[in-house]
Amino acid sequence: MRLSGKVAVVTGGASGIGEAAVRRFVSEGAKVVIADINDHKGAELVAEIGDSVVYQHVDVTDEAEVEAMVAKAETTYGKLDILFNNAGIGSLNATDELSLEDWRKIMAINMDGVFLCAKHAIKAMKRAGGGSIINTASILGHVGQAQTGPYSASKGGVANFTRALAVEYAQEKIRVNAVCPGYTRTPLLEQLDDDMLQYLISLHPVNRLGEAEEIANAVLFLASDEASFITGENLLVDGGYTAR
Ligand code: NAD
Repeated sequence: MRLSGKVAVVTGGASGIGEAAVRRFVSEGAKVVIADINDHKGAELVAEIGDSVVYQHVDVTDEAEVEAMVAKAETTYGKLDILFNNAGIGSLNATDELSLEDWRKIMAINMDGVFLCAKHAIKAMKRAGGGSIINTASILGHVGQAQTGPYSASKGGVANFTRALAVEYAQEKIRVNAVCPGYTRTPLLEQLDDDMLQYLISLHPVNRLGEAEEIANAVLFLASDEASFITGENLLVDGGYTAR
């Protein structure tokens, strides 16, 4: 029970990597606020998992909703110890054909959202005497790939935002790390055709996609006190993708 007595918020908690983290956190003793825009899936998860979780509708680009999300953790469970700052969307477009509107949509969710959730979680963590934030970056915050301009820019931003926050809040006992998944089998990849998936698989030396549970295991470690001397780290969980 590595998270016994801890209270967590998981954004994008209704699907994929976030959902796997919710299940892992609960299995290790945490109380969890599942924060997402997918109210139907959120309600299903609460019905299935039971009273260790509550669901809160939040669009991470809306500051008032983000504040309400943090308040939900404090009013329901008394405090906030862990933020898995994970909600995000993908993009695959030629950059010279991308509209400014599309660019801004990616930035709004993948970067503004990470900022807003961190901002309000930090206030709660100061009240709690410390905490652990894990941002979801990506291999594409570390290496380039064609047609991923705004996504890669956003994840590179998250990667270094993580280091900056780690330095800024170390004295407040708030650790800030990022998990950087390789391509992982979640609904996010459903937009890709089989040829593209096979190509992406071939880029991983392990010759397969990651599973959401494999990313959640790394998030659990970073969230737990086992990682007490780790802050500012970007942990690649990528089947060797970036080692190649
Ligand atoms: P997913 O689509 O299964 O889950 C993302 C969740 O975020 C969904 O439940 C969605 O409803 C929610 N969401 C989207 N916009 C939101 C918003 N504005 N406010 C609140 N919630 C919102 O995808 P996933 O693969 O689990 O992705 C989770 C994170 O992992 C993302 O940040 C993604 O960029 C990152 N990531 C994924 C992969 C991959 O291959 N799957 C690889 C690297 C990084």
